Amino acid sequence: MYERILVRYGDLTLKGKNKKIFVDKVNSLIREKVSNPNVVYEKKHDRLYILLNGEDHNKVIKGLDKVSGLSSYSLVSKSERDIESIKENALKVINGEIGQKVIKFKVESKRSDKQYPIQSPEITQIVASYVLKNTSMLVVDVHNPELTLSVEVRHDAAFIYCKKIKGMGGFPVGVAGKGLLMLSGGIDSPVAGFLSMKQGVEIEGIHFESTPLTSIESAQKVIDLTKKLAIYAPHSRIRLHMVPFMELHSALIDNIPEAYNITIMRRMMYRISEKIALKNNCIILINGESVGQVASQTLKSMSVINEVVRMPVIRPLATYDKLDIIGISRKIDCYNISIRPFEDCCTVYVPKKPTTAPKLDRCIYYESKYDFDSLVDRCVEKTKTIAISYKEKLDITMLGLVVSEVL
Ligand code: ATP
Ligand code: MG
Repeated sequence: MYERILVRYGDLTLKGKNKKIFVDKVNSLIREKVSNPNVVYEKKHDRLYILLNGEDHNKVIKGLDKVSGLSSYSLVSKSERDIESIKENALKVINGEIGQKVIKFKVESKRSDKQYPIQSPEITQIVASYVLKNTSMLVVDVHNPELTLSVEVRHDAAFIYCKKIKGMGGFPVGVAGKGLLMLSGGIDSPVAGFLSMKQGVEIEGIHFESTPLTSIESAQKVIDLTKKLAIYAPHSRIRLHMVPFMELHSALIDNIPEAYNITIMRRMMYRISEKIALKNNCIILINGESVGQVASQTLKSMSVINEVVRMPVIRPLATYDKLDIIGISRKIDCYNISIRPFEDCCTVYVPKKPTTAPKLDRCIYYESKYDFDSLVDRCVEKTKTIAISYKEKLDITMLGLVVSEVL
């Protein structure tokens, strides 16, 4: 019954001079994610029509739901131009939308063919009264409608639609520049990565892996999570930097008082992340920290940890409730991967009493007692980078990286 999909860009229309760049970017993301050679794209100023050409609309929609910067879309039904056909089709479309509850609705009509014998207000009136007469759950409310039935009469046909389906929203991934996502195997960091992409930030990932202190499966988790995130990335691909962290990790365990272990470990991670970011044209760091979640995420801890870098650190989840984070994690299909029970470097050797209020001078003092700088440099040097595409099957053992490196 649907002939085309109407796509709206939403917020992008506020972008002034940059609007064209934004719209072009969303359009190219749409083509990439829909990836269907049979559909035809018809650009109008602040909307796009996807002509289905007989293709299954559900398949196309699957692609649209991966496009950041897409505000909403509607499935459009094509009708003959005579008013009887328009009335019938309008009723069909609206019947698909109404349920048990009374809905406030209005009809909106547009004639792009000015030769059409009935004027727009009249089309509206005819269609509205027909629909009202033939349904029982509608009342007209032109000021506050819950449902708007749109009729567009063109030269070749009439088009009718009403449901507005929400897209991802935000901005097209990449327009904001590139950030480096600190990606653990946990629940939070993939969600932070997703939200950043949704807001237009292209991401690369960095993971600190401590095999064989930690299991190889925990590194595999990170690869699997990156694949899920790659679905939203430009070209459906994300570069992931694997940092061999074991040597530095062991040195921390051996040389740093237990209460400060995590704080200083995280300072090391930040230092390495900034260096890797600079090497790869990433201008911010992103992580999954959320205020108060664990000892290293008190405001005091965060400020002492953050102190080692100059680069801005974005924490999309800073104020999120864990349940909301889990909700997003499920939506992006990461949750079942994140909860696989393998340890990562933050969960082995968890100190019994990590400090929640670390002091900066203590950190600096403890760090001065050992040559951590050269270990940090070695981590950066030995970091391996892989491009992860959401389609490829990638097994950590196939990479020959982590395993052969340390075993
Ligand atoms: P997550 O669920 O993302 O693991 P968390 O609540 O367990 O987060 P922490 O373990 O303290 O919290 O980590 C906070 C943030 O630090 C993570 O969200 C992630 O961005 C980063 N991080 C932690 N461990 C690693 C790691 N091994 N490699 C890369 N980044 C990490
Ligand atoms: Mg964690």
